[in-house]
Amino acid sequence: MKRDAKCIFCKIVAEEIPAAVVLADESLVAFLDIGPLAEGHLLIVPREHCERLTDMSAEMLASVVGKLPKLGRSLLAVSGADGFNLLVNQGKVAGQEVPHVHLHLIPRKAGDGLGYRWHPGSYRDDRARQLTEAYRTALAKDA
Ligand code: AMP
Ligand code: ZN
Repeated sequence: MKRDAKCIFCKIVAEEIPAAVVLADESLVAFLDIGPLAEGHLLIVPREHCERLTDMSAEMLASVVGKLPKLGRSLLAVSGADGFNLLVNQGKVAGQEVPHVHLHLIPRKAGDGLGYRWHPGSYRDDRARQLTEAYRTALAKDA
């Protein structure tokens, strides 16, 4: 299994540095984020070092995502939240600070003040059709 000796999440996976681990199995480790956006904020990381979500195999991702319903139920029960956000930051520009894929599971309560300020745009002329075409071409090439 690939690991990076300098990676802080690899060190947590290997129990070389402490973390508040809530679940560990053959494919993932889930632990409390040390800087929680809300009480109970979890990080879920694959055991294998992988920098980006887009580098993960479908199998590796499936084994992590497959645990989300169970982890989500425990988060709702423990935090008393009414819902949660599931978030992956990929790339520095998106806010990724730790270069080992991690899923944030962030408890949400009414009026907690968290969340994005969405400013939805719109497509002009036939831009949506062009983008759809570009997506279909890219996806077909990546088959
Ligand atoms: P991101 O910005 O998506 O890369 O998120 C990295 C997250 O890792 C941040 O929310 C940090 O608070 C969290 N973090 C960094 N080091 C640790 C650590 N040793 N234990 C738990 N969480 C950590
Ligand atoms: Zn790592």
